[in-house]
Amino acid sequence: MLYLNGQFVNRQDATISALDRGVLFGDGIYEVIPVYSRKPFRLDEHLHRLDASLAAIGLPNPHSIEQWAALVLETIARQDFDDQSVYLHVTRGNAGERDFPFPADVAPTVMINSSRLVTPTPAQKAAGVKAISHGDFRWLRCDIKSLNLLPTVLLREAAKRAGCAEAVMFRDSWAFGLEAASNGAAQSAPQRYLSEGAASNIFVVKDGVLLAPPKSQLMLPGITYDLVIEIAEANQVPLEIRPISEAEVRSADELWMTSSTKEVLSIVMLDGEPVGDGKVGPMAQQLDTLYQAFKQQVMRGGD
Ligand code: PMP
Repeated sequence: MLYLNGQFVNRQDATISALDRGVLFGDGIYEVIPVYSRKPFRLDEHLHRLDASLAAIGLPNPHSIEQWAALVLETIARQDFDDQSVYLHVTRGNAGERDFPFPADVAPTVMINSSRLVTPTPAQKAAGVKAISHGDFRWLRCDIKSLNLLPTVLLREAAKRAGCAEAVMFRDSWAFGLEAASNGAAQSAPQRYLSEGAASNIFVVKDGVLLAPPKSQLMLPGITYDLVIEIAEANQVPLEIRPISEAEVRSADELWMTSSTKEVLSIVMLDGEPVGDGKVGPMAQQLDTLYQAFKQQVMRGGD
């Protein structure tokens, strides 16, 4: 069963208008919440991020945090599997015409769906994954979890065609408000900095220090990113949150992707070159063990 505009319906009966602004323009916001043993993980954080994204595009939140939480819990209860990936989706609705500015008095479209949660298997975690790199050609408000996912579609397809799981993205220094590095050469190529993965945040380990790019409008503020930083701080893992240059990524000892469904997953090859020694590193193993322990606590009790 899937929740659509006030009622639970069978998936095959869940239809929306061809003129919905989500269909026409990608004019909407989404969220993905992992659910372990029927307990939503960091629900409050996900619902607040949804609220922030809606506010950023001027779409009034159709529900309070409490109402959303109740709807999510009901959606979870209606599935016949325990580990779930709950998808929330709000669009600016169907105005009956294709006109760009916000329509007046149009009800938003609200959908909540749940599918089976697929996390990396222990074998996949132990082996790590491969990634390509790519220039970050998305817009400059990547902090908004927008339904416009065409860049992600193209990036993930390019990764897949290269036999890889993710695309690690870089942007020129100006986008970060940083000066290009000067090495004395008049026409030196501009320095690029890490933004994030196509559908994940990226962490780097160098000389025993965990490096994370600071939150900005150039990346999604990941719920997993926050948790990894919390866990690192609670366990005295040396941590630096600062812009990370492309050169640092390419000479990293470890590279990780993090997301609600991938959790903490090591990238062991970038553009066909091994990252560090090409194996899952010790800090990834440490963080993943701590992450799994945190998950167990949530499954036993609450977040
Ligand atoms: N960045 C992007 C572009 C993403 O799509 C995702 C996955 N939603 C993330 C980062 C990771 O966010 P989270 O940890 O909240 O899943």
